[in-house]
Amino acid sequence: MNIELSEEQRLVRKMAKDFAASEIAPRADEIDRSKRFPREIFERLADLGFMGMQIPTEYGGAELDTVTSALVMEEIARASGSVALSLAAHNSLALGHLYTFGSEHLRQRYVKPLSTGERIGAWALTEPGAGSDAKSIQTTARKSGDEWLLNGEKFLITNGSVADFLVVMARTKPDGRGTGISAFLVEKEFHGFEVVKDQEKLGLHASPTSDLLFRECRVPAENLVGEVNHGHQDVMSILDGGRIGMAAFSVGIAQASLDAAISYSKDRHQFGRPIAEFQAIRFMIADVATRVEASRLLYLRAAQRKDLRRPFTKEASMAKLFASETAMKAAWTSVQIHGGYGYVVDYPVERYFRDAKLCEIGEGTSEIQRLVISREILKSLQFG
Ligand SMILES: Cc1cc2nc3c(=O)[nH]c(=O)nc-3n(C[C@H](O)[C@H](O)[C@H](O)COP(=O)(O)OP(=O)(O)OC[C@H]3O[C@@H](n4cnc5c(N)ncnc54)[C@H](O)[C@@H]3O)c2cc1C
Repeated sequence: MNIELSEEQRLVRKMAKDFAASEIAPRADEIDRSKRFPREIFERLADLGFMGMQIPTEYGGAELDTVTSALVMEEIARASGSVALSLAAHNSLALGHLYTFGSEHLRQRYVKPLSTGERIGAWALTEPGAGSDAKSIQTTARKSGDEWLLNGEKFLITNGSVADFLVVMARTKPDGRGTGISAFLVEKEFHGFEVVKDQEKLGLHASPTSDLLFRECRVPAENLVGEVNHGHQDVMSILDGGRIGMAAFSVGIAQASLDAAISYSKDRHQFGRPIAEFQAIRFMIADVATRVEASRLLYLRAAQRKDLRRPFTKEASMAKLFASETAMKAAWTSVQIHGGYGYVVDYPVERYFRDAKLCEIGEGTSEIQRLVISREILKSLQFG
């Protein structure tokens, strides 16, 4: 496997890194503390083409490959987990689903305004009673003339309260399990759609995580995304790709934590010398730096396989599992190296610590990644 980046991939990564350092990082603490979704940052991300990263240019996107999009995600997450999470939900979940499975009519009507950043997207699968077990969703869609009527609740939906367009999964076969799910494009103005509230949460405060309600929500028949009753398979394929982005997101938080730990350990003096001179501190930095490098290689490998149209389910799950646990380890270590200063808000590491936990939960928990990886490995074994 050759993981040399092309000139273009390096250029786009640098553009993302410079933008994140100059325009996102200086505001990351403020937007987290005020729990404010920073629209102005998303307008600037749109100017750079990052609101439609993998969408063809004819639909308003930047037509980046998966490797480049993941590199951009890492750089944005390094500056602000909140901005990166909202960007990931918009790009790889909402837009990815709509562009990949939507009809030409849906692409023309919705993909362009999302890709150019005029509109924000959300992707609504999870419900109060259905998380890891996505086949058990209870939201229903029933056909009535030339409309679908959606009824049910969605829970923990990134961008739910700020999105203009939402891809919503609902059951179209009342007694089916898994096979009877379909996706719908819902506009926020559609009759019967309601944002109930944004959740108060541990971290990622500038990225709204919303509860949504659908009461006889009227959706035009042509807003069915993909084939009827094929939604579960489409969701699984979108999550495979999304996990590469979540791995890159995790590496961004891990790298930020590591950078902070290195810098602090050189500045902080105890017992008459920089704490970076103590072997205990040096070994912590060595362990985290090694895991960060390994995580980056894992997500690049998964992204490269996707770009080469090779199977990448196992590789994406491995990258997501290892990188998310690395993000937690890196943030934990960085707080530890900062001592008491790591526990107060004057330093960004307490934010990294809070934000990192999501990596092990969103787009499939670590336990679900282990299920996917073991299933992929063991399916090739012959028993009996
Ligand atoms: C900040 C945030 C943003 C989110 N954004 C979105 C979004 O945009 N769209 C969306 O649809 N969802 C979103 N989610 C929901 C997220 O995808 C779910 O929280 C996640 O999939 C886990 O589901 P759950 O919370 O219901 O946990 P559960 O599925 O109830 O899991 C609880 C525990 O049981 C374990 N577990 C469950 N099943 C198994 C099993 N078979 N074997 C072993 N262990 C198991 C889990 O790993 C976990 O430890 C978001 C969540 C958060 C916190």
